[in-house]
Amino acid sequence: MTNQTPLLASLASKLPTVGTTIFTVMSKLATETGAINLSQGFPGFDCSPELVSLVEKYLRGGFNQYAPMTGVPALREAIAQKTADQYGVNYHPETEITITSGATEAIFATVTAVVRPGDEVLVFEPAYDSYVPAIDLNGGVPVYVTLTPPDYSIDWQVVRDKITDKTRLIMVNTPHNPTGHVWTTDDLAQLANLVRDRNIWIVSDEVYEHILFDGRVHNSLMMHPELRERTFVIGSFGKTFHITGWKIGYCLAPKELSVEFRKIHQYLTFSTVTPIQYALADYLKEPDHYRQLPAFYQRKRDLFLAGLQGSRFTWKPAEGSFFQTVSYTDITDEPDYDLAIRLTKEIGVASIPVSVFYNQKNDYKILRFCFAKDDAILAEAAERLRNL
Ligand code: PMP
Ligand code: GLN
Repeated sequence: MTNQTPLLASLASKLPTVGTTIFTVMSKLATETGAINLSQGFPGFDCSPELVSLVEKYLRGGFNQYAPMTGVPALREAIAQKTADQYGVNYHPETEITITSGATEAIFATVTAVVRPGDEVLVFEPAYDSYVPAIDLNGGVPVYVTLTPPDYSIDWQVVRDKITDKTRLIMVNTPHNPTGHVWTTDDLAQLANLVRDRNIWIVSDEVYEHILFDGRVHNSLMMHPELRERTFVIGSFGKTFHITGWKIGYCLAPKELSVEFRKIHQYLTFSTVTPIQYALADYLKEPDHYRQLPAFYQRKRDLFLAGLQGSRFTWKPAEGSFFQTVSYTDITDEPDYDLAIRLTKEIGVASIPVSVFYNQKNDYKILRFCFAKDDAILAEAAERLRNL
């Protein structure tokens, strides 16, 4: 018996298959059970006190009203400088850089700016969970290119076969969440060949741009001139400065693309929290603040993996991001979702089942662990897992 009123019955969901995200589900379960939470991706340690002091300075200094719609000029200039230094590419701070309330907003704004009903959007899966809802809400049609363990490398012929006259946007994510896979310059060249002479835009989610391992460098799509002219490059300070709770990111795109991007951003959020923008503008002036990240996280990845040595899990070390995926085919054939729940409850380690990032929930028996945690926590989690 349902006591739904006609009013509620008329509420046809625009996202009928969407429930609560896996990140919320697993973090909540970890809290309830007291498990070590290696599920949702966020640092288990605090950001720099210097950054907090800078925010405090601007909070107390009266920087508490709306920021300009496109972002505080000093922060846009600092990002332009960082981008020029790091990738040798110039984006104009006035017309080509927009500050957003996290990468999530920037991704949504990009998809909304370019996808019309019926347009096809190419998505590499496993895919970060906010991509497909953004496509759906804009009437787009996701077209999946499925990447599989252990390499998750891209077969470019498969991608070519999926491109049609309706393809309007390709969504890229490097370094990749959840797999830690990183694009090579060959991937960039392959993508450029594929989109040449076609009316296809690209959104490149590069929120882990500063977290790459074993000497790898980040191949930002902006570094390829043919890709740059059609790409919205998305960044986030959440990953770079251990401030995921501040929700501050940005979009770099050529002027005409930024004009359309800003039309959406203007009515999604209008502008982004002011004192934090000023603080980040100051903090960005010291490149060491992000140059130390690869070594910092590689040590944690290696610590976690050293702890798993002798277990029945198998893995390829993550190439980037702060996630490590592991295969458990030698341990059990349980569905990954069930195992993630069971491990949280029984041994007190929460993870993310990678099937949730596939449209058809492909279960390759892989769990994702976030290693952005204190060393002692990582060692304890690895020990519990080793004894499985
Ligand atoms: N893209 C990817 C691949 C992510 O992992 C995340 C968050 N972990 C985001 C986007 C969202 O970033 P933000 O918190 O800045 O919105
Ligand atoms: N991006 C984070 C992850 O992959 C989670 C962000 C969120 O909770 N929405 O775990």
